[in-house]
Amino acid sequence: MQYLVLLILFVLISFNSNAQSNSQIENKRLVHNDYVIKNVNIIPMTEDNVVIKNATIVIKDKKILSINSDSIPTDLKIIDGTDKWLIPGLIDMHVHNLADVRMSSNYPTKGATLFMDNQDFMLLYVANGVTTAFELSARVEHFGQRNEIINGKVFGPRIALAFLVDGGSSGNSANTPSDGRQTVRIAKQQGYEFIKVYSNLNAETYKAIIDEARIQNMKVIGHIPTVFKGSTKDAFVPHFGMVAHAEEFSSQTDKYTNDVAKEFAKIAKDNGTWLMPNLSNLVYIAKQARSLDSVRNLPSFKYVHPLMQSKWIVSNQYNKGTSPKRVAYFDSLVDFHISLVKEFKKAGVPMVAGTDSGTSGIVWGFALHDELKLLVDAGLTNSEALISATRLPAKWLEIDDKIGTVEIGKFADLVLLDKNPLKNINNTRKIAGVFLNGKWIEKEKINQMFSELAKKNDLNKNNYDWNKRGEY
Ligand SMILES: [Zn+2]
Repeated sequence: MQYLVLLILFVLISFNSNAQSNSQIENKRLVHNDYVIKNVNIIPMTEDNVVIKNATIVIKDKKILSINSDSIPTDLKIIDGTDKWLIPGLIDMHVHNLADVRMSSNYPTKGATLFMDNQDFMLLYVANGVTTAFELSARVEHFGQRNEIINGKVFGPRIALAFLVDGGSSGNSANTPSDGRQTVRIAKQQGYEFIKVYSNLNAETYKAIIDEARIQNMKVIGHIPTVFKGSTKDAFVPHFGMVAHAEEFSSQTDKYTNDVAKEFAKIAKDNGTWLMPNLSNLVYIAKQARSLDSVRNLPSFKYVHPLMQSKWIVSNQYNKGTSPKRVAYFDSLVDFHISLVKEFKKAGVPMVAGTDSGTSGIVWGFALHDELKLLVDAGLTNSEALISATRLPAKWLEIDDKIGTVEIGKFADLVLLDKNPLKNINNTRKIAGVFLNGKWIEKEKINQMFSELAKKNDLNKNNYDWNKRGEY
C-alpha cells in the first residue's frame, strides 16, 4: 500500500514536471518574431530580377508573407529599410566546417578530444550573410553541429552534407566498383545527402560510384580523378553534377590556353555538369606561397579558432618549401582559371560560388565576398555573380522552392545591405543585418559578438598549438 502511494506520487510528480517543460517548450514556440521591413529596395534574384523600389515586405512564421500588400498584420517589429537593399541569403557551395573532432588516438569511449563552440564558429557565416553552406567533407559530428542550428540552440546557416569518397587507403576509400557502390549505399543510409568524388579514385570505381548515386537519388559533386588526365571527356558520365574547382580542369592539362579552356567548357556543357570555379582558393594559395603575412594580416584572422590560426602559420603547406618557380606556377593557374570562367560563361555552363573555406588562409563567411569579387573580375556581371551565390546554388541543391530568391512563400533567408550590390559587387560586404530562417540578427549584435570572440581567441591563443594537437 505504502509502495502504491509512493508510486502514484512519483507518477504525479513526473507528470507535472513533464507538463511544465512541455508548456515551456510550447511558449518558446509561440514567441516567434514577425517583422515588416519598410521602404526597402528588393533585389529578388528571380529570372527577370526586376528591382522593387521602396517596398514593404512582411516576414511571418519564418517565411515571406507578402511584398507590397495592402493588408499588413499588426504586432510586427518594424525595420526601416530606407536607402537599403534586400537580397536573398548567400550560399557558399564549398566549405569545410570546424566541428568537434578527435585529434589524438585514444580509448574507445572517449570520442572527440577537441570541442568547438559552434556559435563562435557559425558567427563567421552569419556576419557575412551566408545563410546556407555546403559541407563537402561531412562526417558524423557535422550532423550534431547542424542539429544545434535546427533546434535553435545556435544560430547559423542551413547546411547540406556531402560524403567524400576517395581511392587509395586513407579516409573513406573505395578501390573497386562494388566497394564504391556499397560506400554510396551506406552514406545514403547514414543520412548524407550528396556524394563527393575525389582525386585518387580509379576510373571504374569512380563511374560505379556516380551510377550508384544516381540509383540512390544523391547528386554528385567533386574532383576529376587524376587518372583521367589526357582523356578528360571520359570522366563526364551522366549524373556527374558539378566540378568543385576550376583547378580540376587545370590539373587535366599542361596547356593553359583559351582553346583548351573552350574544349573543357564544351565537355561540361554537353554533359550538363556545372562548375564551381573557386577562384579565391588559388588566389589565396599564391598569396601564401609568397608570404605568410597574407594570413597573419587578414582582418578576419582574429575570429578564427586559435588552433586553426596556429595550423595556418606553423603547418602551411603552400608556404613550406616555396620558391619563385612555384609562385609563378600558382600565378599561371590563377590566370588559366580566369580563362576557364570566361569560356564556361560563353558556353552557357551554370557556375556557382564556393570558397573551400577551412583550407589554410580561407576564412569561413568572409571568403565568399572575395569569391564574388573575383568572379566579377573574371567576366561575370554583378548580377551573374549574385545569381551564382543565391538562385543557382539553391537550384542545384534542389531547395529553390524554399530559398534562393526574395519571393512570397520562401523562407526568410535574407541579407539587408547598406549599398546596392548591382552597382558594385563589393557592396555585398556592407551588411546592415541578416535574416536566418526568419530570425533577424542586427549588425550591432554581430559586432558585439565579434568583439567578444576576438577577445576570447586572444586570451586562448597560447593554449592551442597545432604541433601539440595530439596531446589534447
Ligand atoms: Zn574542399
